[in-house]
Amino acid sequence: MVLDMVLKAAPRTPVITIDTGRLPDAMQRMIEAVEARYGIRVERLTPDAAEVAAMTSRYGRDLFREGVPYRTLCCNVRKVRPLERRAKGLGAYFTGLRRSQTETRANIDAVDRAGSPVKISPLADWSAEDVARYTREYGLPEHPLYAAGYASIGCDPCTRAIVAGEDERAGRWWWEQDAQKECGLHFSPDGRAERTVDVLLREVLESARP
Ligand code: SF4
Repeated sequence: MVLDMVLKAAPRTPVITIDTGRLPDAMQRMIEAVEARYGIRVERLTPDAAEVAAMTSRYGRDLFREGVPYRTLCCNVRKVRPLERRAKGLGAYFTGLRRSQTETRANIDAVDRAGSPVKISPLADWSAEDVARYTREYGLPEHPLYAAGYASIGCDPCTRAIVAGEDERAGRWWWEQDAQKECGLHFSPDGRAERTVDVLLREVLESARP
């Protein structure tokens, strides 16, 4: 959706995705459908292999099941740090964040100048119905997992379909109670988790040094 709008206005805009190493197979098919539709090559960001190895050898591949600090650590190593590295030097970037997705996104700004680069969310005040209507109207490729009941799609082991009445992001890290359904790309976790993940991350980064 955002991609469609941006490429219509500025066809040479770089398109970036983060391949965490734990994505569902359907994501690869979606990326290829996007590349075919727009005649572009989507840039795939990947986590630092040494950091992933240091994290998984210390805490296991599925460390995210051990609690929010470990889940946040995994998101940090596999998503946040690759994006931070790529974002250096960019003036701005676009996201598909919407206020109606979940409580933590209820007050986002369409143009957020608080950090660098500037974050632009053109769909900030769109509903899920608005997105579906635009997708139908312009015949955009749809992620195959939407047809299976997914409403927000991330890594394979951390995402499930939702049922009627659930929040759009209820299928993300569904085993966590009272935690923010965020990976740290867009929002900091709560203070306690932040302090804990800082310690865990520091340890992992130190082990990853050659
Ligand atoms: S969504 Fe799950 S597997 Fe993916 S980076 Fe976060 S914790 Fe790790």
